[in-house]
Amino acid sequence: MSRFLRRLTALAAGLVFLCSCGISASRSVDVQFTAMDTFIHLTAYGAGASTALNAAQQSLLALEKQLSVTEADSEISAVNNADGRPVSVSEDTAALVDFALSMSRRTDGAMDPTVYPLVRAWGFTADEYRVPAQMELESLLPLVGAEQVDLSGNTLTLSPGAMLDLGSVAKGWAGDRLADDLKQAGVSSAILRLGGNIQTVGTKPDGSDWVVGIQDPDSEGMLARLSVRDCAVVTSGGYQRAFTENGKTYWHIIDPATGHPARTGLTSVTVVAPSGALCDALSTALFVMGTDRAADHWREHRDFEAVFVCEDGRITITAGLEDSFTLMDGYTEREVTVLR
Ligand code: ADP
Ligand code: MG
Repeated sequence: MSRFLRRLTALAAGLVFLCSCGISASRSVDVQFTAMDTFIHLTAYGAGASTALNAAQQSLLALEKQLSVTEADSEISAVNNADGRPVSVSEDTAALVDFALSMSRRTDGAMDPTVYPLVRAWGFTADEYRVPAQMELESLLPLVGAEQVDLSGNTLTLSPGAMLDLGSVAKGWAGDRLADDLKQAGVSSAILRLGGNIQTVGTKPDGSDWVVGIQDPDSEGMLARLSVRDCAVVTSGGYQRAFTENGKTYWHIIDPATGHPARTGLTSVTVVAPSGALCDALSTALFVMGTDRAADHWREHRDFEAVFVCEDGRITITAGLEDSFTLMDGYTEREVTVLR
């Protein structure tokens, strides 16, 4: 090795040494990968962050294998292919199905985990988009509804023809799980981005709030920002997966009552609450309900906050977000209504 190279190596070693001396609560570790059909970006701070994030990545990939509606050997596929026979599933899957069914009841079926026959008819899971005939949709509607599912302990039985899709809750639920695991591992500051689902652990390392952007549904830009701590921020938007045929746009959030993509004048709904699973279920449900029904739901429950963006650009926020919601530059002229 030349003297120059040796000096360079010594210098590099010194730098590494200096960096590790500087390990403090503010040093961040990032992990990025694709899972659950979306881009995942996990960031955690402080000692133990690296090990904890690697474990989080493994546990998310394992959950995906279990819950995916497209993977042939997932537990959900086993249930969907059972043709009315009972199937024994893991405790995790049973707990998530139980939660999804309870949210379906709470939202009068606006969010419904049995929506899969409809989602499949529109080609959303396989990315083979098509507009089904009205008669086809009508023949599928009787297969949709929480009453199609019997869950006793860990045994799941679906009516013949009925099928489950946990796509509206799985990422939020997984976010809760990862956040709990990180806390158990001693991490007190992290931000987990699972596509449109954000889960924050504690605060930023300096004790300040996390700043989470809300995308403009009509562009790549950020419409507004929210400052939050130790909670989830989950957005459902028509813009996230859609196709256009004969000049009409169809998106992946389906109204289980009609079988058609939900069209209520909303282009996105963002829900804020401590539980990512609750946020995820509600972001889908409130999108289906539309602003007025969603406002009633908020007034009735008051266990979440929300931002509604309408096709005409108008924005509605719930009262609890008044101090944490800020329009971004270029959007400050937008009309914002506060629900009380
Ligand atoms: P994303 O997964 O894009 O973040 P959502 O959380 O709103 O968005 O979930 C949408 C997914 O849930 C769809 O891709 C579909 O698989 C499924 N889905 C569509 N409509 C409904 C509905 N009304 N209830 C439950 N699941 C739905
Ligand atoms: Mg959702």
